[in-house]
Amino acid sequence: MTSTNAEPPDPRKAQARALSARPGMSYAAALRQVVGSAQPWQPKHRWVLTDEVRDWLSGDSRRGDRRDLYAWLDNLPATFACDLCGEPGDARTADCAITPVVTAYDPDFAPVTRHVTTRKYHATCKPSSMDWVPETELPPGPLYLGLRAADRPDLIGTVDFGVHALLDTDPEDGIRHAMLLLTARIVEDHGRGVFPWSTELELYLGSQGITSLAALDDDDEPAWTLRISTENTVGNRPPWIAIRIGHGGYDDTPRHLLLREVDLPDGWADAARRAGHVDVAVGLCTRHWDTAPVPEELADGIADIIKELSFITKTAADNHCDCALLTADHAVALVESGAFLLGWVRVLSDDGIG
Ligand SMILES: [Zn+2]
Ligand SMILES: [Zn+2]
Repeated sequence: MTSTNAEPPDPRKAQARALSARPGMSYAAALRQVVGSAQPWQPKHRWVLTDEVRDWLSGDSRRGDRRDLYAWLDNLPATFACDLCGEPGDARTADCAITPVVTAYDPDFAPVTRHVTTRKYHATCKPSSMDWVPETELPPGPLYLGLRAADRPDLIGTVDFGVHALLDTDPEDGIRHAMLLLTARIVEDHGRGVFPWSTELELYLGSQGITSLAALDDDDEPAWTLRISTENTVGNRPPWIAIRIGHGGYDDTPRHLLLREVDLPDGWADAARRAGHVDVAVGLCTRHWDTAPVPEELADGIADIIKELSFITKTAADNHCDCALLTADHAVALVESGAFLLGWVRVLSDDGIG
């Protein structure tokens, strides 16, 4: 810690001298206050702690977990079977070590550093350390988007989105473009039907830069960002995507429109990362198409295809949603007709930081 040369002046003594210059405080009292506050916390038992374990106990390296871990450690049973040698240990009578196993922070998939378990050792077997592990219990993500009725602010309509990753091949140059098709289902309409909520949805999307093809301004920086997680770091974790619509809440973590497993066509993630952005087409779920602004001709054309395909694929669980049958060509036609809105999202790096 200190150099081998002459001891540097102790800053705490200087602080104490400054404090004692205040009326009514002796130098001894000031020194006690300054030194006392600089004294690191010590555990009740003989747990030998490293700086990284201290950082976790103090909360410095924790996210979304505000427990008092000093009290936790002091209440931890002092006797244990060593996780390395298997022999009994007792932190009341001998130096011992702990290794908390804690999920590593990830802004989208693990915004809370979850304390999974704690390993205990004889200090002679293994020094204290942190074991940061990937989160395996992935969050289901937000299930609904709440929309406030313009004329009744106390009324919140809720929407959930089907998400479909599509690859659109440019007929001119053959380059493949990654698209996301989001199909909105009004799941709570307060008896008002789909139409007023689809209008509220359109207003919300417009405020986020998702708008009709005619009104779209390519120079606008998108409000949303996209994280694509294809790394198979956690067991057999399937590909996940996160659409972030801002930050806020606890510890300023991302707020999501979607945080969900998706089937990604081959080459989709590569195309998205290469381009640095993904087009997003948003419209109503096929189940609402009786009230959607889909041109009749287009709707009929797509409906015919859906009818044909769904004859083969439909199951009861589909709940009349045929959106999974829509292709990139359908998505483009829906956007061109003005029935679906278009925007784009910037693709974040794999770790979700930049
Ligand atoms: Zn041991
Ligand atoms: Zn649908």
